Amino acid sequence: MIGLPPPSPVDKTPRCLELGDEDPVAKILEAMKSDDESLKKNAILCKQCDHVITFPEDLITINDRFIHTFTNPSGLQFDIQCYHSAEGALVSGKPTDFFTWFKGYAWQFCYCKNCGNHIGWFYSNQEDQFFGLNLATLKGDI
Ligand SMILES: [Zn+2]
Repeated sequence: MIGLPPPSPVDKTPRCLELGDEDPVAKILEAMKSDDESLKKNAILCKQCDHVITFPEDLITINDRFIHTFTNPSGLQFDIQCYHSAEGALVSGKPTDFFTWFKGYAWQFCYCKNCGNHIGWFYSNQEDQFFGLNLATLKGDI
């Protein structure tokens, strides 16, 4: 007898198992995963350490503008963008309205929670609050 290869095993997998590929729950989980990845991809990051600071969805207009250019008392110019939240920012210091760039709002410093880089300011009053982040310290979808 010449050794014939054994007959290839017949695929007895029931057809219905293929439906598993279209399991709606798996699809949803997959979609959620890719959403999560795209969220990270679109995140606004600390330029110094890549820590996620905020997301483009949190961008807000203040006085009808997205970008505000200001000069501080030392003559340094900043382009800042306003966000209604910034999970990756640490707010520090006592609120002050000294030389505030937004009338009616007091400000505090904002630092990257990961590396401590100064990334902007937190503005607040009794009714409202937002983050004014320095574009020069951020990267990503800004
Ligand atoms: Zn950082």
